[in-house]
Amino acid sequence: MPQRVNCDGCGAILYEGDELKSPEEILQMYNGKCPKCGRSLSLTPKKIEIRAASDGGVKKTR
Ligand SMILES: [Zn+2]
Repeated sequence: MPQRVNCDGCGAILYEGDELKSPEEILQMYNGKCPKCGRSLSLTPKKIEIRAASDGGVKKTR
């Protein structure tokens, strides 16, 4: 399933594709701002779900 990331403010498509991109990558693509409305992009877009396996033994990297 393709990943799609929209701007929270204006709904512009910031990224759409089969390749899974991290929020950081998408943010860097636009210098942290929506190219359309100039809104600051969140590091954790709602559309992207990053789920960690729920075992307490793994160290979190962030
Ligand atoms: Zn926008």
